[in-house]
Parts: sequence; C-alpha cells; structure tokens
Amino acid sequence: MSALKAFAVTETDDNTGGIVFARHAVTARRHGANEYAGGEFAYVSCRRAPWADRFAENQDPTISVMIAHGWHFECQGCGAKIDEDWLDEEGLPVEGVIGTQATSVYCCARCKWKSMKRAAKRKEQEQLAIGAYKAVVLKRFPDAEFCDNEPDKYRGHHHAYVTMDKGAWHWGQVVISFKFPGMQIAPAHYSRNEPMHQWRSPFIGPVKPEYTCCNGDREAFEAWANQTRISA
Ligand SMILES: [Zn+2]
Repeated sequence: MSALKAFAVTETDDNTGGIVFARHAVTARRHGANEYAGGEFAYVSCRRAPWADRFAENQDPTISVMIAHGWHFECQGCGAKIDEDWLDEEGLPVEGVIGTQATSVYCCARCKWKSMKRAAKRKEQEQLAIGAYKAVVLKRFPDAEFCDNEPDKYRGHHHAYVTMDKGAWHWGQVVISFKFPGMQIAPAHYSRNEPMHQWRSPFIGPVKPEYTCCNGDREAFEAWANQTRISA
C-alpha cells in the first residue's frame, strides 16, 4: 500500500479542484494551490478524502468514483454537467461514466462513441477544405511548394476551421502555407476568411481570399507573383 494519502483540494471561490496525493496535508495544499489557484495557498481548501486512498498508486482517480463522492464534471461529448442527480434523471449508471481525473470525461460510452465519430468527420472536412484550397493556390501559382512535410519547422501550417450547422458542414477560415522561389524567411499564406455571421444569417457578404507573406519576403513574393501573372 502506498504511503500517500488522498486530499480533496478545491479553490474556495468557484469550488473547482481535484484529488491530490501527498504524505501530508500541507504538501497536498501547496500542490493543489499551484494547480487550481495560481499558486495562492490561501485560496484553496484542503481536506482528507479517504475514499480516494485506493487510487494513491497511480494517482489518477476514476471519475465515476469521484462523482459518487459528490464531485461533478463536464461531459466532453455532450457538454452536460455530470453529477449523481443528472445521471439519475438521464437514467445513466454512475459506473458508466468514462474517464479518470487525468483523461477526457464522457457521461457514457455512447456519448464518447458519438463524439469520436464527430471528431473523425470534422477531421475529414478539414482535409477536404485544405485540399480544395490547395487547388486554388496551385491554379494561381503552379510552382508553389506546400509545407506538408515540415509541419514543425514553420508556424502556420495548413489550417481549416469547419463547423456543423443544421446538419451541414460550413468551411470557415482556411489557411494554406506554401514556399515560393526566393523565399528567405517564412512561407507565404493563402487565407480564405469567412466571418461567422455570413452563415448564421441570410446576409451573404463578400468572401475575401488573400495572399500574405512576411515583410522580409515581400519583394521576393511580389517579384514571383508578377512573373507568374503572365502565364496565369
Ligand atoms: Zn455526454
């Protein structure tokens, strides 16, 4: 059995916090203050939680057990505030809550599955949007070189923001990064921006596509753009 004991450490104002494992309350409180109250020792309360001692070995209590002891969490799938009352109303067993203090939390297996499927579909849409706008860039700049194989070297790798609204996917911002002849500092970007309101209301404004590069590369980029304009 571990020599560590479980303490419930919570921020005094908003009552958020977690289970902390330590030999002594003062250590638990110090750790909890760093974690939940920006290091402010005075802003956390710390009390023993013997029911969580059995998690001392891996220091990662199971959410279902925490809920059974009065804690509540937000479901990362449906956003519900999961506590015993809510589970009761929904007819969901507390044992069915998925997650530990260190992982994502879901109210039930079905909610997690739905959330995973949704995330996969979102990823697919993002890839579609990126593919479509790479084609737009290539049409204007056939010798643009996409930075697909060096995502860490340059900031601003391709990015797409997609949302689901009334059963349909909408492409919001799409950013494509590419290198060009004469580039010294950083890749140029093609950005397609669509303000949120454009698909939330009947008003359809202009969608402005834009090519940008950093100041240091401006001359090289403009020279390249002028040179390729003739053949475009
Ligand atoms: Zn849920």
